[in-house]
Amino acid sequence: MARIVKKFGGTSVADVEKIQSVARRIKKEVDAGHQVAVVVSAMAGVTNELVGYVDAISRMYDAREYDAVVASGEQVTAGLTALALQEMGVSARSWLGWQIQVKTDDVHGKARIHSIDGKEMIESMSKGEVAVVAGFQGISPGGRISTLGRGGSDTSAVALAAALDADRCDIHTDVDGVYTTDPRIVAKARKLDKITYEEMLEMASLGAKVLQTRSVELAMKHNVRLQVVSSFSDEPGTLVVNEDEIVEKELISGIAYSRDEAKITLTQVADKPGVAAGIFGPLADASINVDMIVQNVSDDGKRTDITFTVGKTDLERAVATVEARKKDLGYSKLVSDSEVVKVSVIGVGMRSHAGIAQTMFSALAEKGINIQVISTSEIKVSVLVREEYTELALRALHEAYGLDAE
Ligand code: ASP
Ligand code: MG
Repeated sequence: MARIVKKFGGTSVADVEKIQSVARRIKKEVDAGHQVAVVVSAMAGVTNELVGYVDAISRMYDAREYDAVVASGEQVTAGLTALALQEMGVSARSWLGWQIQVKTDDVHGKARIHSIDGKEMIESMSKGEVAVVAGFQGISPGGRISTLGRGGSDTSAVALAAALDADRCDIHTDVDGVYTTDPRIVAKARKLDKITYEEMLEMASLGAKVLQTRSVELAMKHNVRLQVVSSFSDEPGTLVVNEDEIVEKELISGIAYSRDEAKITLTQVADKPGVAAGIFGPLADASINVDMIVQNVSDDGKRTDITFTVGKTDLERAVATVEARKKDLGYSKLVSDSEVVKVSVIGVGMRSHAGIAQTMFSALAEKGINIQVISTSEIKVSVLVREEYTELALRALHEAYGLDAE
């Protein structure tokens, strides 16, 4: 007997038939003698609709009421899934965030989980009852409903798996695993059998939208056996594991891209101590995340250009923040550009191999793609290029690193 957590995303519970087919899959596990906790998202599109209602009524909304509204989608699917199981003769009940006691901080709309009390749930599960859990939601220190940020049910599932000491956490979704790159763009993309937590973390935060980044962080921290797997077939998916579990390591595991980036260049900034702090301090104070940064050495030791990237949705605020300080900073021009894409190659093999970045640069050069900004970490190289080159760049890199399926 195993204890399993299974999470089903919005497209997997998009309508009554799909909920019934999810219930059938769960019944199989129950019939095999396993204890199952199911975490569900809202039906596809519902969360967006709820966010739309909030925006329509209040532009500068009270985040606690935003959470009260947007958390409701998961309540519906949890109840319906429990009902579908009962109809099949499987004993089941729904659990909302406040009933389990998924305790979070008070950052409404983007809360982090502090603790989960799995005791009551374990009792109920050991009596053979399937626990159907509303993902995405918790309870704040003030006793209000909180939500975990978009895509947050992944994190609910992993946190629950850790709290229940589950043997496995399956994330069921509309793709059948993690791919070397986006298969909608590169037809030769391959499904990976295994990927390391670290690589998955980079993939998720660099734009691959399979898992919420926070859920991978949590899985890594608590050593949760995570599998990304299809909701609609029984094929094995992709296992997210520790590095030592992968025998045949590829140099590069995947290529991610993100169109959510925007670039800002300040020209003719004074080349003296305190200037970078003067720019990035106020951005940090405004909670604007800066990602890539380049600063040139100036010819004359007096003036230089600084380029950096921020999230597209933060661009307007970032420009306003920097422009408000134009006098102090003394730059000459601010140029912003949101038609850029960040392309990243990721692989733990990079740690022990030279020449990975060079392969990337020459593959892009061969296609005539100009690199605007570069950043690296131990296991990834990212470049910023013009957005119109997204497809071309992904295909060229996928081939250059030998990732193409035969
Ligand atoms: N329903 C929420 C969202 O769309 C949470 C989730 O699906 O993971 O973001
Ligand atoms: Mg999702």
